[in-house]
Amino acid sequence: MAAPNVMLNIERLSSRVLRILGCNPSPMTLQGTNSYLVGTGQRRLLIDTTNPGKDEYIKLLKSTLEENTTSIQEIVITHFHIDHVGAIPDVCQNLLHSKEIKVSKMKKPVGDEVNIGLDYTFIEHNHTFHTEGATLRALYNPGHSNDHMILYLEEEQSLFSGDTIINGSSTTVQNLIEYMKSLQDILDLKPVRIYPGHGPVIEDGVKTTTDYIAHRISREKQVLEYLQGSKGDPRTVMDIVKKIYVGVPVVLHGKAAENVDQHLLKLQAEGKVVTEDGKGWIIKEN
Ligand SMILES: [Zn+2]
Repeated sequence: MAAPNVMLNIERLSSRVLRILGCNPSPMTLQGTNSYLVGTGQRRLLIDTTNPGKDEYIKLLKSTLEENTTSIQEIVITHFHIDHVGAIPDVCQNLLHSKEIKVSKMKKPVGDEVNIGLDYTFIEHNHTFHTEGATLRALYNPGHSNDHMILYLEEEQSLFSGDTIINGSSTTVQNLIEYMKSLQDILDLKPVRIYPGHGPVIEDGVKTTTDYIAHRISREKQVLEYLQGSKGDPRTVMDIVKKIYVGVPVVLHGKAAENVDQHLLKLQAEGKVVTEDGKGWIIKEN
């Protein structure tokens, strides 16, 4: 029997949700990207794919479609990162009979989309996707990335959280101010279950979201306390990482530094810390 946290390659998670693993495990993607097939009919929605060139994923997806006598109605993408959009061309080439498939996502407000060789259909906040057996409401939820959206599954009062909430580690953040607001938006939805972008299903959506918020608040407190203790001596981002990410593998320190950066930018915007070019960060004296 598989250990409780080892995810199967293909798993039925509810009467309307199947998960296919992206077969792209890494320290960042955990056991890989979760690709979800949603609905009960002969055409279903595919939420997210995986990195490019993952033949094993294409095989798994093909057999899942065959076993369930179904096909892909539309591909829905939570955000532009390559581990989610990368296999769209492979799916189109291998599993779809026509190139006329709709691939929907929210538009990046800044920066280019990853070129996937076909045009996205850009949707707006509150757009609803309908398929037999499932209704998904798309909600703009930036922070992990500037185009990030989540999908609320009306029939289950549950949520596809993309990478805003993943199961097994904390996520990376592009804008912490937006991210904290997005976590609060998730909490307000009171999701029963969360189907994350990476890692196993989360059965206690509200508790996990609350824990995620508490984790960021406690990191922010650690940053502030360290700078307060430094009594005006500037501290660099790496000084802070070494101090507060004790026990985190060094290979992840680069990502930790991005998170600390985000805390500092948020604290700077709130007028609590300042930086003098290149020298590091200090507490802002009032
Ligand atoms: Zn991801």
